[in-house]
Amino acid sequence: MAKRTSRPAARASAGVSAHATVTTPAPLAPGAPCPCGLPAAYGECCGALHAGRSAAPTAERLMRSRYSAFAVRDAAYLLRTWAPGTRPPAVDFDPRLRWTGLDILATTDGTAFHTQGTVSFAAHYEIGGERGVQREDSRFVRVQGSWLYVDAIS
Ligand SMILES: [Zn+2]
Repeated sequence: MAKRTSRPAARASAGVSAHATVTTPAPLAPGAPCPCGLPAAYGECCGALHAGRSAAPTAERLMRSRYSAFAVRDAAYLLRTWAPGTRPPAVDFDPRLRWTGLDILATTDGTAFHTQGTVSFAAHYEIGGERGVQREDSRFVRVQGSWLYVDAIS
């Protein structure tokens, strides 16, 4: 059972649930399969992006790494890959929620030849024994060579 911290209730902001902030990423071994669904070990895939050893070359790759950051509860990575204009003050994770898979449904632009792009995805999760899916068309921009998440179109 999760212990409640002594922090005051987290601020709610658009699209971010207001549950207790988890400051420590959930442990995931570098050799574990990457949560993003690519056939690679976490340490060689999104783990390298989370650790700052490499940068996402495409909007889709950034989307995958952000999904993995939700899965391992890496708030710092989510915040630094969020466009300043839409970035929330904090990212709070629901400790009951477990992300179980990601499907990339479609992309537009978002390559090294573009400065913006969209990624449509379905993110699967489980909460309290119930399965759910979050579908979103996300907008991304590339600023000084780095892809950043902007917001959801739908
Ligand atoms: Zn990955």
